[in-house]
Amino acid sequence: MSTSYDVIVIGGGPAGYHAAIRAAQLGMNTACINMMLDKEDKPVLGGTCLNWGCIPSKALLDASHKFVEAQHDFADMGIKTGKVSADVPKMIARKDEVVAGLTGGVAALFEGNGVTSLPGKGRLYANRQVGYTPHGGEEQMLQAEHVILAPGSVPAAIPPAPLTGDLIVDSTGALEFKQAPKRLGVIGAGVIGLELGSVWNRLGSETVVLEAMDDFLPMADHRISRDAKRILTKQGLDIRMSARVTGTEVKGSGKSKYVSVTYQDKDGEQVLEVDRLIVAVGRLPYTEGLLAADSGVNLDERGFLYVNDLCATDATNVYAVGDVVRGPMLAHKGMEEGIMVAERIAGHKPLVNYDTVPNVIYTHPEIAWVGKTEQQLKSDGEQFNVGTFPYAANGRALAAGENEGMIRLIADAETDRILGVHVIGAQASELIAQAVISMEFSASAEDLGLIMFAHPTLSEGIHEAALSARGHAIHTVNRAKRS
Ligand code: NAD
Repeated sequence: MSTSYDVIVIGGGPAGYHAAIRAAQLGMNTACINMMLDKEDKPVLGGTCLNWGCIPSKALLDASHKFVEAQHDFADMGIKTGKVSADVPKMIARKDEVVAGLTGGVAALFEGNGVTSLPGKGRLYANRQVGYTPHGGEEQMLQAEHVILAPGSVPAAIPPAPLTGDLIVDSTGALEFKQAPKRLGVIGAGVIGLELGSVWNRLGSETVVLEAMDDFLPMADHRISRDAKRILTKQGLDIRMSARVTGTEVKGSGKSKYVSVTYQDKDGEQVLEVDRLIVAVGRLPYTEGLLAADSGVNLDERGFLYVNDLCATDATNVYAVGDVVRGPMLAHKGMEEGIMVAERIAGHKPLVNYDTVPNVIYTHPEIAWVGKTEQQLKSDGEQFNVGTFPYAANGRALAAGENEGMIRLIADAETDRILGVHVIGAQASELIAQAVISMEFSASAEDLGLIMFAHPTLSEGIHEAALSARGHAIHTVNRAKRS
């Protein structure tokens, strides 16, 4: 093993592996130190996203959604099925296969691009010396011209709900239930709480979501949040707002053990009894053991690695990307930062546009947005036009039985430039890419209105929302009539 590299990346999640592959593509001698182990304690690439986050949760979301469709929606389309039942162990095994395929793919990409994979723990010392401790081995010192820190994040814990490993679990444990618990509690109506709550609710759990805040999904456009709460409640999620969890106690014995959850709401102290409890109260940057005292890298007041707009830390030629730095904890944000840093090291000048980071919540219907919300623009005192288009007026949506949802497109009242697009509806995660591309190219609502969209598609909803922002919608009656 060489001890000297052009680039050492610490962390093999989305941010780190993108940085490593791009650095190697650009001709730099690159190593990636990654400590993650899989369920069988074997080194594995791909980080939280591939192993315990985005991908396994989507495997279960997609499987459980198909289960709901088979149970409830097929008959409406004239498809008769026998009694449909869920085979949870099979779903979990399939999820593991999907994960294994993708993590193996990253290993193959490292090999194909010439990235040296170093399984174990990395630690940064002064002057870009990196301590590398292989699993079960001794620390050895490596030297790099440039270091990219991408250690990711870990689930946050709250003192009233310590994890027990079986009954009280975090998002990782919630991907491994052997069967749908009869009564499920979820702390946190954030992205993880809603996605994992949806999975088990669909598979039969009576699901109660306890959320401390008064507003549901406050970061989303308020009209979309309102519809989301209504639709998810109709699906059976019992979402209790202004409910702050203050304590948990495991009661009973053997197979009849359960969790008694105490929470405070506007009416005082309440108690909820559940068979399993998922704690989904946010994530924290993971920096344990990462920095030696002389590393020169500083943390910000919230414990993130401090970086400038270009992801440079306070130490010369040391960068940090992904969940461990400011900004949304989203895999795609980290991927773009990783690529940007690798390219800047090679002398190119790309930038990450933080104004066009898409957000997606993979419930059904999906929720996705990019740019400013109506409430943000109002509080900034901006003048804007809003175009809306309901899925119920889209032919393809009706044909597919997906008539629930809407698209809202917000454009600057003066310049007509698109400021934000907000979607709740089938395939919102795919539709939002059109909005991201439009905003990246500074498109106006008129531009989108002049573009031809294939018919019949859900994408026509984006076209109609753009037309509606100017009072020109064809398939809805325009509230504002503009020429
Ligand atoms: P979150 O911050 O989105 O939501 C956590 C929620 O828990 C908050 O609404 C908070 O008010 C609530 N909460 C905290 N303490 C509480 C208490 N004592 N009682 C009741 N409620 C309490 O965090 P998350 O859902 O855990 O997700 C973590 C991160 O992972 C986020 O940054 C998220 O964007 C990211 N993520 C993204 C996706 C995606 O893009 N689809 C999926 C999963 C996770």
